[in-house]
Amino acid sequence: MKYWRKPLDQDHLKTQHYQVDLITDRCKGCGLCIEFCPRHVLAESAEFNRKGYHPIYAVNDDCLNCGLCELMCPEFAIRIVQREGAPARE
Ligand code: SF4
Ligand code: SF4
Repeated sequence: MKYWRKPLDQDHLKTQHYQVDLITDRCKGCGLCIEFCPRHVLAESAEFNRKGYHPIYAVNDDCLNCGLCELMCPEFAIRIVQREGAPARE
């Protein structure tokens, strides 16, 4: 996202409060979550899971807890969890 001005608190504001928790063997590698993640957090792994699919993994710590990946996943394989010390989820 491109801002028309830089937020005053951008340099000291921590936004990395969430992380992706995947049930690896449920993932069927459909890529829906990768396609719709607005922060480009997710990617396809080179590993195989027990079903023989390439599960996803998080490539960065930029998750904002928008919840899209949880909603999109047809296998209910993704859960977004708070990092330790993060503010309560709304
Ligand atoms: S909750 Fe949103 S930002 Fe975080 S990984 Fe899922 S789609 Fe991406
Ligand atoms: S949407 Fe679900 S099943 Fe599809 S790649 Fe993402 S985690 Fe795997």
